Amino acid sequence: MYIVFEGIDGAGKTTQIQMLAEWLEANGFRVETLREPTDSKVGVLIREILQQPDAQTEEVQRILGLLFAADRLFIMDRLEDESKIIISDRSFLSSLVYQDDAEWIEVLNRYAKRPDLLILLDLDAKTSVARASGEDTFENEELLTEVRQKYLNLAEDYTCEIIDATNGPNKVSSDIKKAVAPYLGI
Ligand code: C5P
Ligand code: MG
Repeated sequence: MYIVFEGIDGAGKTTQIQMLAEWLEANGFRVETLREPTDSKVGVLIREILQQPDAQTEEVQRILGLLFAADRLFIMDRLEDESKIIISDRSFLSSLVYQDDAEWIEVLNRYAKRPDLLILLDLDAKTSVARASGEDTFENEELLTEVRQKYLNLAEDYTCEIIDATNGPNKVSSDIKKAVAPYLGI
């Protein structure tokens, strides 16, 4: 099973993935976690580009669209392992909301695996900015508001659980467990 966590910065994806993974392991499941950008050479390059001040320009976003699509192909085989629950921090859905031209992104990601379950950690832009406390400063409230709305629109096309990420980590974690349990018969 391929579970994907999506949401804007500060939503708590990394923390919540860790908490869910530990809980699933305690329930006897084999779990593998991964993140996008991955640790492949392309993933390392993407991280470098994301740090540059021009990362949000249209030109660089197009380059990122291509690189992310390539980076994803490196993890295809790991996502097919049916003996495990794979939990991913981001997926091609991130490209759909960040890299914009949806039609083109869909084509580039034709071979990217679609999530079996999408967990959308929903957060308002103001809280995101407050939590970021200075890092990722290129992501202003306006952009974050747009991205959040795109996520909410996208969620309708997938098997998705929308979780209120404004709550504290323990409450968010328990909401996620409640949402995930029925899919795993626990
Ligand atoms: O998930 P993480 O916080 O590491 O992502 C860092 C940033 O990478 C995001 O805030 C977003 O701006 C950018 N990103 C992107 N396109 C993606 C995935 C992430 O622009 N497909
Ligand atoms: Mg971040």
